[in-house]
Amino acid sequence: MSRVLHRSPAASYPVAASGEGPYLFDRDGTRYLDGSGGAAVSCLGHGHPEVVAAIQDQAARLAYGHTAFFTNEPAEALAEHLVADAPGSLDRVHFVSGGSEATETALKLARQHAVNRGEPMRRRVIARRQSYHGNTLAALAASGNPGRRVPFDAMLPDGVTRISPCYPYRGQRADEDEGAYGERMAAELEDAILGAGPETVLAFICEPVVGATLGAVPAVPGYLKRVREICDRYGVLLIFDEVMCGMGRTGVRYACSHDGAAPDLLTCAKGLAGGYQPLGAVLMSRAIAESIETASRPFPHGFTYVGHATACAAGLAVQRVIDRDDLLVNVTRQGAALRDDLAARFADHPHVGDIRGRGLFLGIELVADRESKRPFDPALALNARIKKAAFARGLICYPGGGTADGQAGDHVLLAPPFIIGDEHRAELVDKLADAIGGALTEIGA
Ligand code: PMP
Repeated sequence: MSRVLHRSPAASYPVAASGEGPYLFDRDGTRYLDGSGGAAVSCLGHGHPEVVAAIQDQAARLAYGHTAFFTNEPAEALAEHLVADAPGSLDRVHFVSGGSEATETALKLARQHAVNRGEPMRRRVIARRQSYHGNTLAALAASGNPGRRVPFDAMLPDGVTRISPCYPYRGQRADEDEGAYGERMAAELEDAILGAGPETVLAFICEPVVGATLGAVPAVPGYLKRVREICDRYGVLLIFDEVMCGMGRTGVRYACSHDGAAPDLLTCAKGLAGGYQPLGAVLMSRAIAESIETASRPFPHGFTYVGHATACAAGLAVQRVIDRDDLLVNVTRQGAALRDDLAARFADHPHVGDIRGRGLFLGIELVADRESKRPFDPALALNARIKKAAFARGLICYPGGGTADGQAGDHVLLAPPFIIGDEHRAELVDKLADAIGGALTEIGA
């Protein structure tokens, strides 16, 4: 392959050349099943003609107009579409270009709202360990993903308190049921608020289904409702990061709807425009929107590409196709079937500790020992080996690392496009099982 300058020149990458449905093709014609939609992005698969046409049409009429001067039709139509079934009182949308920008925007909206309502003391953010909220410095400061923080730790803003994630596979005790476990995890939030001083706490941020850091771990029933109550009790804003788990990935547009809990701010990206354009969004409650809009000073925040017309046209087309073709029904059906297939294939596997997730957002955790749940030594880089082995077999999956402290094992995240059929599911499971086998052989397990 020719020299690559865009990514690391030291590594070699095939050149992605085209895509069709759930498949990507490289320049040499090798076909890859997109078993993770990249990083849970490509919800409609690749090359969808209606989305392509919507982008072409918008770009031809007006690609971009700065939102300091204008709004535009696709941004307004997409915002309408998003708030139509948004949880709680979320009824305003701020479009950005991706997940990290959405996190930054949500944190700054929260802060501005606190200042506007005469509570400038509120600046502390409570987040969870084993979480990911983005690459930019404030988003990274909120993230509890040790691998991604090094070596930036020293320059991250302080003022973040971290509590445990809701991770029953490792956290739930033998003497408690899911309900009691959820209560105990939510109580950590209340303790953290009281410990910091409630008048100093701005917001609590969490992923309703943890994505990249743990591999599709939904909160146990009742947990999100409980954290909502606790936030209300202390005037703390609740932010749900649905960048990865939202936009239908779990079978409903907003992942938190499964739990009947509504945040004050909700972020989404990835599946919003399905990778056809870079697009993210923050949905905010009416109270926050009104406080921002009626303040004497304008909210001093905005990216150049806010509400980008072509990106919003892509997002609108993606969301309309999902609705029109009832694709969330397929997400629920294929998701349940994929989970059953994985359970059947790995039922007796000595190194598959847990299979979890919701809809077409599933994770497998690998362990050195199933009985004790002992993770593999992270130095073995099992997840990276699985990724490589799968890729060599024509499968894209999204593995993530175990932590050096043994708090989590290696995992594989699966998030195939919403359009998959039975034949793609079978191909995915066969190739994944083969890749996991190959990677385990490499490390001598
Ligand atoms: N939040 C979550 C939950 C994510 O999974 C990600 C990306 N993996 C982000 C935020 C950051 O999104 P982006 O990479 O688009 O900036």
